[in-house]
Amino acid sequence: MVQDRTAFAQSILAGHNLDALLFAGLANVRYHSGFTGSDGVLVLTRQKTCFLTDSRYTSQARQQVMAAEVREYRLKTEGVTSFLLSEGCLRVGFEAEAMTCAELQRLKESNLALEWIPLGKELRDLRATKEADEVACIEKAATIAAEAFFEIQPQIRPGVSERDIALALEFAMRRRGGEDRSFDLIVASGLRGALPHGVASDKVIAEGDLVTIDFGTRLDGYHSDETVTLAVGEVPSRLRDIYNIVLEAHDRAMQLVRPGVRLQDVDAAAREHIQAHGYGDYFGHGLGHGVGLQVHEAPTLSSRSEDVAAEGMVFTIEPGIYLPGTGGVRIEDMVLVTREGYRTLTKIPKDYTVLPC
Ligand code: ZN
Ligand code: ZN
Repeated sequence: MVQDRTAFAQSILAGHNLDALLFAGLANVRYHSGFTGSDGVLVLTRQKTCFLTDSRYTSQARQQVMAAEVREYRLKTEGVTSFLLSEGCLRVGFEAEAMTCAELQRLKESNLALEWIPLGKELRDLRATKEADEVACIEKAATIAAEAFFEIQPQIRPGVSERDIALALEFAMRRRGGEDRSFDLIVASGLRGALPHGVASDKVIAEGDLVTIDFGTRLDGYHSDETVTLAVGEVPSRLRDIYNIVLEAHDRAMQLVRPGVRLQDVDAAAREHIQAHGYGDYFGHGLGHGVGLQVHEAPTLSSRSEDVAAEGMVFTIEPGIYLPGTGGVRIEDMVLVTREGYRTLTKIPKDYTVLPC
């Protein structure tokens, strides 16, 4: 049973003087309705919530969507506009991020009486703080991912390709009940460790490599996200030093997390530590991101973030150093902001780990 999560949306309706709010992004549709299919829209008016889909999904929607009326359309544009007009709704806010220009154009042309108001940052924080059952899904996904990781860890050795590691890890996560991988798994070894998003390749792991594995799975729609960097035998001392710098940056950032802290300050704690060791130019991405029904969602941890930590937020802390021609390190955990501080949801210890060759 999906709880009533429409309070935020109702406040947007009132605050922007809207008659209706149209959600076309599947994450927000699922959040408000429980619908898990791949096509459908949710319309909230001040009086009711209506889920609209086509005949492929009507039966599924009637089982899953408890808190809203379910309507079937033949053509989405006509279905949406006729519902809005039947409810007397003329001023309609929509999820700008989730609609293409072409879709908006079709809606505009279908009835000139309707006024379409794009909503972007207004909706950004809609899912930023999680309820207990959402946190439980994220943590269970992280547990599945960790168990799968420990199962395949013995396979990470010289002579095995990055792609084979990624396949074994994905299979192990799915066999444990993971719905899918959270994203294309990153396995980046040796020089490829300098690629922050080095999707697993045919490169074969060699003795002396650091191997960065960024992975996660999904459970009941909720994602996990975690990165480990492991040494295969003895690695060059510079990379060993970089590992310690990144780990210290990660720890310093984590220790700041509590309700009320500005997330740009959490980013700065990690970034300044890396800068102080001369590697500031080699940490080019933000420190982290929210995780939930989407693997990247609000809040944002970066030097420009205006987000402030609040109890119930789930986000990653993932500093890295990437040295072209040498290699790289990233260490990533997911944390839940609690009343007193934080709790780590990911399960794999991040101490420097040397795998036998
Ligand atoms: Zn990640
Ligand atoms: Zn991440």
